[in-house]
Amino acid sequence: MTDVKKRFQQIHHEISTSVSAAKRDPQSVQLLAVSKTWPADALREVAALGQRQFGENYLQEALDKIDALADLDLEWHFIGPIQSNKTRDIAGHFDWVQSVDREKIARRLNEHRPDSLAPLNVCIQINIDEEETKSGTSPEKLLTLADYIATLDKLNLRGLMVIPSLKNSVADEKDSFSRAYELFQQLRHKYPQVDTLSMGMTADMSTAIACGSTMVRIGTALFGQREKR
Ligand SMILES: *Cc1c(COP(=O)(O)O)cnc(C)c1O
Repeated sequence: MTDVKKRFQQIHHEISTSVSAAKRDPQSVQLLAVSKTWPADALREVAALGQRQFGENYLQEALDKIDALADLDLEWHFIGPIQSNKTRDIAGHFDWVQSVDREKIARRLNEHRPDSLAPLNVCIQINIDEEETKSGTSPEKLLTLADYIATLDKLNLRGLMVIPSLKNSVADEKDSFSRAYELFQQLRHKYPQVDTLSMGMTADMSTAIACGSTMVRIGTALFGQREKR
């Protein structure tokens, strides 16, 4: 068995263990393969194992891979910070954008989404621990931004994405994840199409699933350690 196949199976094992420990439906957590910095061939290998959803952070690198893998039926998620001059390329080439954090970006993605494509699925990124250096909207502004996105016909509001601050204990991780879950419930109450709570990475996926994540974004555990960029 290849290393990638072993790691892929290990991740699925961890997801199903965490899902059953939390007494949740096994289908309720999806795996997003976070492939930033890895070449198209590495993604192709993972796709051959049955993985369809890939997450990318850097636009130019992502566009090259989307092009190189156009023969596969993949679903592309943009998960990095968004500069407003990049919205045209993002809206034209991705299926999901998980890092929408302000009205201007939402408006531009809506303007630039081609009519030939289905509405763009979006998650609002929440700065759950209100860190100065992190992107994401503050929890208080969530509903205002959601209300705005709901008026845009080429965006489909699907949920929330969070990247908590680094924590020293599982209890502290749970605190952030639980606050995110609370916001997710509020959002879902107002917008019933909302079904995605994107939280959990290599280091904290089990805790995220215990706290209600519906999508874990996994890079290192799947592809290996990234080179510093
Ligand atoms: C890089 C990245 C990940 C994956 O992190 P790992 O620790 O490698 O699993 C997940 N989400 C976002 C937003 C990222 O930038």
